[in-house]
Amino acid sequence: MKVSIFASLFLAAGAAAFAPAASTSRLSVVLKGTANELGIPCEDECALESFPNLPPSVHPGVLSGQAQMDLLQHAKENGYAIPAVNCVSSSGINACLEAARKNDAPIIIQFSSGGSQFYGGKGLDNSNYAAAIAGAVSGAFHVRTMAEQYGVPVILHTDHCAKKLLPWIDGLLAASERYYEQHGEPLFSSHMIDLSEEPIEENIEICKNYMERMSKIGLLLEMELGITGGEEDGVDNTDVALEDLYSKPEEIYQVYEELEKVSPMYTIAAAFGNVHGVYKPGNVKLEPEILNRAQGYISEKIGDKAPEDKKPVMFVFHGGSGSDVSDIQNAIDYGVIKMNIDTDTQWSYWEGIKNFEAKYHDYLQGQIGNPEGDDKPNKKYYDPRECMRAAEVTTVERLGQAYADLKCQNILGLPQMADAENVLGPRRGGLPV
Ligand SMILES: [Zn+2]
Repeated sequence: MKVSIFASLFLAAGAAAFAPAASTSRLSVVLKGTANELGIPCEDECALESFPNLPPSVHPGVLSGQAQMDLLQHAKENGYAIPAVNCVSSSGINACLEAARKNDAPIIIQFSSGGSQFYGGKGLDNSNYAAAIAGAVSGAFHVRTMAEQYGVPVILHTDHCAKKLLPWIDGLLAASERYYEQHGEPLFSSHMIDLSEEPIEENIEICKNYMERMSKIGLLLEMELGITGGEEDGVDNTDVALEDLYSKPEEIYQVYEELEKVSPMYTIAAAFGNVHGVYKPGNVKLEPEILNRAQGYISEKIGDKAPEDKKPVMFVFHGGSGSDVSDIQNAIDYGVIKMNIDTDTQWSYWEGIKNFEAKYHDYLQGQIGNPEGDDKPNKKYYDPRECMRAAEVTTVERLGQAYADLKCQNILGLPQMADAENVLGPRRGGLPV
């Protein structure tokens, strides 16, 4: 049966959808409706529709295996890249899903090791990365539950994992294997392993070992080659040698050749002068042409095996915050299908809170008393939902710009998102506008 969340998406257009009789009690609705009809996460018990403009394997919710490959291939063939946003809370995740639906596009939601730990709570002991593992799993279930509700395809990923953090990924792989036993798909879509600080042979060897394990359950590996400069999530590469910020075509070919022996399910984060964070223009310059040269070099080496577009490699763009749109779009032309966004959405989230505080400053200084009177309560101003929603709104807006820069709009072919209905407001009226 192919009843899906599209039933609810298309309700406004008059399509048929499950609608309980008015007299039906709530309990019997719960008993009668399928999980899908009731908007409860499907957990393998309902078939999900595909999208008008995407390969039929791509469905709303978290993708893995062939569906994930088909989406990434679609991006490469159609000249767009998917934004990959670092999230640290359910609020940030919801902003991503809302932005994806508004832009009619897929999204990649990713957790760093630090972000995973934060998701679990920084008051929790993180020995052996237990909190980071549990936090990422918790975030994964949130994404799985809500992605289907927003009706967008999501790639659920984890960001940089250096050698010392491998136990974190080991824990997440175990979680995906367990999930696979129950549902026939992994919990996550993909993981990044970043051994760019190690010798290239070791980097490739460890990645291949992980790919053996991951490809069995439809997980994709993102590997890093060369170093992303700057600083992010406690990894400080601000002082690395300039030449390490640029990958060589021969190295990318070496990686391609070795990883292809295991599985096609990988992407490469090659270095082309990328820097994490936003800084004043310095002496490091983006050189997306490096990716183009690598595609040409590898195509020549593999001859007949090269795909028609002569772009054998799917590249990932790290450190894209603050980049020129022309560099971004050149990189997409050269085979970039994913661009990471962290710094810019950190700012947009904060900016929403900052502007909220500025607007309502005099109502946020105590529980009681504001310019309207010493005895006036301020509850509806300091309710954390208010400033967090303001942060979500500015983040959705910022992601709209990212979607435009990445040429990743109107990809799914869904009708425009209708305004949300039945949204509960504050109990004692909304804030003045
Ligand atoms: Zn990165």
